[in-house]
Amino acid sequence: MITPPHLQKLSERLRDAARNGTLSQSVLFVGRQGVGKFSLVMNLTLTLLCDDDKSSCGKCVSCRDVARLFHPDFLLVFPFPNLKPESKKHTVFHFSDPVSSNARFSEETRNVVEEYKKARQEDPFALPNFEKKENIPVEVVKDLLHALGKKPLRGGRRVVAVLDLDKMAYGAADLFLKTVEEPPRNTHLLLTTSQPNLLYSTLLSRTQQIKVPPVPEEQVAKIVMERLGTGAETGLYLARMSGGSPGAAINLHELDVLSRREKILGIFQKLLEGGRAGLIIGEVSGLYGGFKARYDDTKTDFSIIETIIHDLYMMGENNLESNLINIDIKQELQKLKAPEKEVLDIWRNCCAEVKRACTVNNVSVDAGMVFFYLSCLEALQDLTGPKYTLP
Ligand SMILES: [Zn+2]
Repeated sequence: MITPPHLQKLSERLRDAARNGTLSQSVLFVGRQGVGKFSLVMNLTLTLLCDDDKSSCGKCVSCRDVARLFHPDFLLVFPFPNLKPESKKHTVFHFSDPVSSNARFSEETRNVVEEYKKARQEDPFALPNFEKKENIPVEVVKDLLHALGKKPLRGGRRVVAVLDLDKMAYGAADLFLKTVEEPPRNTHLLLTTSQPNLLYSTLLSRTQQIKVPPVPEEQVAKIVMERLGTGAETGLYLARMSGGSPGAAINLHELDVLSRREKILGIFQKLLEGGRAGLIIGEVSGLYGGFKARYDDTKTDFSIIETIIHDLYMMGENNLESNLINIDIKQELQKLKAPEKEVLDIWRNCCAEVKRACTVNNVSVDAGMVFFYLSCLEALQDLTGPKYTLP
């Protein structure tokens, strides 16, 4: 696997540690989704399991098996969605015993897991973009622990890699914690997370934490332009929007962030041109009425709103080139009549409140968005605070 340029030094340092035996038995990579944590996991696994004593030659049987994610002593686990849960037929990871395992899933689920593995092998930044919410089920962790109870199949070292550790299902993390506290001999745990705040503090204290930095803006923009064929300004926008994560930038593009932003910006334009409540409600209902929102779409829309508010704050400042997130539509933003800071403060707080309501508390996106834009309108006319209450 190719190591992203910004991680090459870190990767080499970790491999040196693995070679001279100073690498901790449990390592936790912490960094945003899509910044290349998986490439560090793969490089370390190659180093640890290579037949040619930790040289990660890339040619031996072990190196080749690791590269195609099928080495018997490389136990890779990641979250996946449980599709058609009623038809339980297949195990999805190679460490599950095909006869006795309870970790059985539908063919659809198995296909999604295989596709994701394939994407991962080819692309260090690949991010899952599942239709349904994913997790690491308890049964899979039970199978993993069962496999760890036996000796390594090829007699040497063994690597357990758990990606997005924070997405372990209820109960699974408790089971796994014991392994982190006392990993079996000759077994290395390579774990990743983008949300360390969701992990048990004991788990954090028992692992060597490695911070994986975001990818520099220009590099993300370059990757985006190469992969998606966008122009330089769109590349820069996606780079800024993703917070330095090529995987997230590509995902945003797949989630149609550009056309969603255009529609959302349209509503802000009407707000700032003095549009009345009826008009705003009509616009918002047009966008969200009968909208069966996917979780990712909802989150994307709130991110778009946040960046527009952010940029409106910036309009009075110098150096818009480096300060604007929506840099590719600078001229459109400049045409807007940016409200005063006090109004933007209300917008920003209201956005945070509605986002929580819609993404955590299951308030419908339609109702939440109407509330949000009407509160924005209200704030423009009167600073005493919103009169509406969340549905
Ligand atoms: Zn090798």
